[in-house]
Amino acid sequence: SRINKLIINMKYTNYKYLLKSRPHGMPTNDCWEYVSESIDTLGSNELIIRNEFLSIDPYMRGRMNEGKSYAPPVQIGEIMTGETVGVVVESNSKKFNVGDKVCVHMGWQSYTKCKDSEISLIRVPETNLPLSLFLGTLGMPGRTAYYGLNRVGKPKAGDTVVVSAASGAVGSVVGQLAKIYGCRVIGVAGGPEKKSYVKNTLGFDECIDYKNEDISRLLKEYCSTGIDIYFENVGGELSRHVAQNLNKGARVPICGFISKYNSTDIMNEETPFHVFGNLNPKPEHRFFVVREWMNEFEKTTHILMKHVEDGSIKYRETIVNGLENAPNALNDVLSGKNFGKQLIKIN
Ligand code: NDP
Repeated sequence: SRINKLIINMKYTNYKYLLKSRPHGMPTNDCWEYVSESIDTLGSNELIIRNEFLSIDPYMRGRMNEGKSYAPPVQIGEIMTGETVGVVVESNSKKFNVGDKVCVHMGWQSYTKCKDSEISLIRVPETNLPLSLFLGTLGMPGRTAYYGLNRVGKPKAGDTVVVSAASGAVGSVVGQLAKIYGCRVIGVAGGPEKKSYVKNTLGFDECIDYKNEDISRLLKEYCSTGIDIYFENVGGELSRHVAQNLNKGARVPICGFISKYNSTDIMNEETPFHVFGNLNPKPEHRFFVVREWMNEFEKTTHILMKHVEDGSIKYRETIVNGLENAPNALNDVLSGKNFGKQLIKIN
């Protein structure tokens, strides 16, 4: 039978990263264990995906900590959490055929074996766009930008919008969407190359290089009528500067605060919740998680696809070859060495 044939012929060597110990500050080599296993059986309603890209994201740092945040931590000895995109190479499922392209959130590994009912499985739509985009602009970060801006930020034409980590996976989409909606958009990014990219390639009105320029003076100059929306990605000193320039009725979607993710005393750090929650009047601000709008993912992906296809949303990726290099790539994201969406090409 077909199933017997699969069992006889199949043999895949899966490489994966396990969490070996919890980091203090920036993750080090001894946090990781790189292991291999062989996959040679396939149960009913199961499939095997050959992963082509792994997404490297800031939230991963939080999952390496002991404490519970909005998602439980990765346990010691468990596979490191992460989303991949790839191609179905074996299928005992009626829902997925060999050759189908899918995203799945089952960790840092070269092959994923899962049930076809796996909740994180997302089919990649028919398109000629690169597969990697479904982990970035057309994947979780793009949707994060879309919901955070629209549902929490509620932009109107003419609003002044400030976006931090502006050249990154989320920030680049936030700013370009806000331009499409008729807002004035100011990015904040680290270094002259990123500044130039945000302004000249992505088409933001202005960008502040927070590493080399006077944030306070330029925010006042570029946002002379005040800030209506601040899309928070980084926290720290920047949040305080922004707080001084918010208009009455301002909205602050709190997406993340990456500047504190490596803190060894996170409970005692000043977060954007402190900064914006202490203002009088308080801006409308809240933390949001992209999964809040899970039932709209497909529709939103298609909206973003149209923008990429017509050139109104541009993207940039930093692709590192080899799954073995994933830990370094995570450290790059946590220190701003990535330029655009950070990905691993799995060989
Ligand atoms: P990016 O592609 O933007 O990469 C991270 C960037 O953050 C770096 O390139 C760097 O840009 C900046 N950065 C790193 N360290 C610091 C620091 N110490 N101070 C200031 N900036 C720093 O990542 P993403 O687009 O994937 O993520 C952006 C934010 O969105 C993160 O806070 C992340 O946690 C959050 N997020 C939240 C989600 C949600 O559902 N709430 C979902 C997805 C992401 P630069 O060189 O310009 O400093």
